[in-house]
Amino acid sequence: MNRNSIDFSENPHFQLLLKQKAQQLKIGNMPYNYRIRQLEKLKTAIEVTYRDRITEALHKDLNKPKVEAELTEIYPIISEIKFAKSNLRQWMRMQRVDTPMSMLGSSSYYIYEPKGVCLIISPWNFPFNLTFGPLVSAIAAGNSVIIKPSEMTPNSSALMAEIVTTIFREEEVTLVEGEVETSTQLLQLPFNHIFFTGSPNVGKIVMSAAAKHLASVTLELGGKSPTIIDSTANIDKAAKRIVWGKFMNAGQICVSPDYVLIDENIKEKFIEACKKWIQNYFTDQPETSDSYARIVSGKHVERLKSYLDNAQSLKAKVEIGGRVEANSKYIAPTIVSDVNEEARLLNEEIFGPILPIVTYNTLDKAITYINSKERPLALYIYSSSKKSIKQIIKKTRAGGTCINTNVIHYANHNLPFGGVNNSGIGKSHGFYGFKAFSNQRAVVKQHTFGINELLFPPYTKFKEKLAKLTIKWF
Ligand code: NAD
Repeated sequence: MNRNSIDFSENPHFQLLLKQKAQQLKIGNMPYNYRIRQLEKLKTAIEVTYRDRITEALHKDLNKPKVEAELTEIYPIISEIKFAKSNLRQWMRMQRVDTPMSMLGSSSYYIYEPKGVCLIISPWNFPFNLTFGPLVSAIAAGNSVIIKPSEMTPNSSALMAEIVTTIFREEEVTLVEGEVETSTQLLQLPFNHIFFTGSPNVGKIVMSAAAKHLASVTLELGGKSPTIIDSTANIDKAAKRIVWGKFMNAGQICVSPDYVLIDENIKEKFIEACKKWIQNYFTDQPETSDSYARIVSGKHVERLKSYLDNAQSLKAKVEIGGRVEANSKYIAPTIVSDVNEEARLLNEEIFGPILPIVTYNTLDKAITYINSKERPLALYIYSSSKKSIKQIIKKTRAGGTCINTNVIHYANHNLPFGGVNNSGIGKSHGFYGFKAFSNQRAVVKQHTFGINELLFPPYTKFKEKLAKLTIKWF
């Protein structure tokens, strides 16, 4: 256990890790049926036993509308479980591969074995989805797991702790509640894999901690996801989908369209269409709408307000919304134009219901602007020009892309989900999640005399010739 000769005895979570490590080979070698049962227990807990309490906890923590809680928290976990259940037998199968002629006499395959004891650290914006989603993949892959959810959504974290304690044994899955200090203590321990969802800054802390033990990491991070709208786009449909994607969960979504880059000739029309859709979804008094969430904490309200103040001090124009009510943690769906390039709104991840609109006069300039920033988690394109769509995809890099829509690529389990560099390392969902929590173990079995044995020492002239022939022909 004492990897790299570090003494962990003072660490309050060390005994828990030891307990899981002691049982991991056994748990990891349990058959397919065991993993399915574990997934079913989680499914029943979320879909039936705790369903109402989950939506209540989310309402207390984020004022999350019930339908939104069902669609963006409960549904993704249930569908992740269903997908894993229907594919797990295939995923767990030994995967035979070809063996080259130079290895005649042997055969080869690989297996997905569990990484071992894994740490899942999750954020607050979709507390259930982003904690239990990765847990599904970890269980499917046969791991033992310690979870550290966010301290910002205490009702959700406490309920998740109750669920985990009720349905799993401590050596299988445990949840540790706590603040940053708890996270720091856990990160000191030699986990086999760390799956972190959160901000790029904390992602760097997680990766440095993992490096101490050479633990592998999956980092699901955030950043600024741009949306390009070109002159050929259907403006009304674009506004309808962007307003939905941006203001769901009050903009606190990692794949939310962070800012819009729009052809300058259609800007006014687009803003008018956004006004219409905001009113349509949330009425002209969104503060009274049951369909609109709140900001998670006073600190985040202040942060968002400071972005808005800063943009306005640099002559930005609030086109729609702008109202901030600190007491009720309400920020209106807000659209801002004429934003100065130096404004914080254009340089920090917004993660809230403020949408800056930036205009461009040529598509190339929009692409250059995107490429001058960190690689985004998502890049959205609204266009009816195949040529422009192709050009944007070819000339940029991003974790994922939607064309003429946004956010929903997250919901397709057949697609890998994740960022690139600043927006993340590694992928999750479906098979990609299973893979993230597995080691692909390569196996070669020697059946008969191996032709490669002809090349064992001593290296005679004959073997030298044989080596040359091998290079030439095999
Ligand atoms: P965060 O990085 O502040 O916190 C995430 C987790 O890390 C929490 O459990 C927290 O307790 C812990 N943590 C915070 N500071 C820490 C530190 N110094 N050391 C160790 N652990 C620490 O993120 P957040 O505010 O909870 O979530 C918002 C961020 O997460 C945004 O950047 C968003 O884009 C990103 N996000 C990404 C995804 C994705 O799937 N890619 C999904 C949701 C959110």
